[in-house]
Amino acid sequence: MTARVVVVGSSNTDMVVPVPHIPGVGETVLGGDLIIAPGGKGANQAVAAARLGAEVVFIGAVGSDDFGQKAIKGLNADGIDTSYVKIVDGTPSGVALIMVDPSGNNSIAVSPGANSRLFPEDIELSSKVLQNARILLTQLEVPLDTVATALEFGKKMDCVTMLNPAPAPATGLPSDIISHVDVITPNEVEARALVGRDMPSEDLAKALLDLGVKIVILTLGERGALVAQQDKLVAVEPFAVSPVDTTAAGDAFSGALAVAIAEGLELIDAVRFANAAAALSVTKMGAQPSMPTRAELETFLS
Ligand code: ATP
Repeated sequence: MTARVVVVGSSNTDMVVPVPHIPGVGETVLGGDLIIAPGGKGANQAVAAARLGAEVVFIGAVGSDDFGQKAIKGLNADGIDTSYVKIVDGTPSGVALIMVDPSGNNSIAVSPGANSRLFPEDIELSSKVLQNARILLTQLEVPLDTVATALEFGKKMDCVTMLNPAPAPATGLPSDIISHVDVITPNEVEARALVGRDMPSEDLAKALLDLGVKIVILTLGERGALVAQQDKLVAVEPFAVSPVDTTAAGDAFSGALAVAIAEGLELIDAVRFANAAAALSVTKMGAQPSMPTRAELETFLS
């Protein structure tokens, strides 16, 4: 079954500097050569899903600058439909400044630019694409009311709605978002922010269920993922790899999970598929450049 996935979210240009260590406040470090690559959680997840074989429509916003044009070209090169990407005049495209240390840890500052001009009415204007979609996948790098509208339309059009709640708002998630989410995929930092306190992973997952989400999939980095549903908790083992750069591991995970669910895999098998795609992504530098193809994933799993 062809997976049809609509992604509503951000597109950024990532500027990555490899550094010997992440600098502290007031510190300057000399790093390696600058890598400029397309990124943004929305675009990354769209690319992850497309490389794994899904038909993907991306709904987002870029500025009328070179970064925006290149971002659209990059998405098209992966076969993604960008006809619903809004070009915002007079506003720069989104940019992320990323430092990566030799262990693959990163530190990131994002300038949202045009991403912050993707409005609820843009979703309404493009909502007919959801009629043929199995999955509506979104994140939190575009305005919250836009995310809420996307999820609401997704539910209206009978999609499975997925939210990767990144970056997590300190104020938690509004109820009009929670009530329209079927599957949420936070990492532990995001889960703590949404719940409002620190607790063991199992309790974090249960606390998120208590907020009203149907399925919680907590990503645990090199420890894999935890699936929580009603009273059931299942740990899904990670794949052992040598990490080079963990940037966008969460995006690889969410994009792959969307494909697997759209293809009709059982939830735990879908999470295993997502763990494998994300593990492969940490073996390469960058965000979109690190997303594996279906063929690479199948070879890895065979
Ligand atoms: P990022 O912010 O770097 O994009 P994240 O913090 O959102 O990532 P993580 O929980 O760190 O998300 O990782 C997402 C998934 O990626 C994990 O659930 C796991 O499947 C995979 N993963 C991440 N790091 C590793 C690793 N070192 N080895 C194997 N798999 C990994």
